[in-house]
Amino acid sequence: KEPTDINNLASEYLRLAYHGLRAKDKSFNAELVTNFQEDMPKVDVFAQDIGRVMLNLFTNAFYAVQQKQKKGISDYKPTVTITTATKGKLLEIKVRDNGIGIPESIKDKIMQPFFTTKPTGEGTGLGLSLSFDIVVKTHGGKIDIQTQEGEFTEFTLSVPV
Ligand code: ADP
Ligand code: MG
Repeated sequence: KEPTDINNLASEYLRLAYHGLRAKDKSFNAELVTNFQEDMPKVDVFAQDIGRVMLNLFTNAFYAVQQKQKKGISDYKPTVTITTATKGKLLEIKVRDNGIGIPESIKDKIMQPFFTTKPTGEGTGLGLSLSFDIVVKTHGGKIDIQTQEGEFTEFTLSVPV
């Protein structure tokens, strides 16, 4: 583990995820909101692993708003909001999107390896199961999910530091 600037890491991967999607779909646009805790102390994590977790959460979030954007709902403003905070010895990273949400019927399956609702080539279904390994097994943290089908999804990572 190494002392890591989480806000920096998040910005880096946010840009990577956004431009990755934009490269494939020039018409894709989303508002990015960052609520980064100011004066965030460096936290001891496996930076590259936490980076991969963030990259997958951001990519999932952009994908979810892109899918909703394709429905052509008027006044729809695709938005992805990233919040970082330290709470005592916990580091909290929240990724919220106002995309398609997760249907109740698949909520308990999404962490399983190879579970995906994306077409072949667009998803491997490994992102969240890998995230579980990194956040829960390697860092002793947890992942909470709040979602409403058609409305929003919010993933919260809590990592002890
Ligand atoms: P992949 O992205 O390759 O499909 P993941 O493990 O990252 O694999 O996600 C598994 C599934 O969980 C996705 O296919 C999708 O059905 C669902 N999912 C994950 N994040 C979101 C999100 N932000 N909004 C809606 N569905 C999501
Ligand atoms: Mg994914």
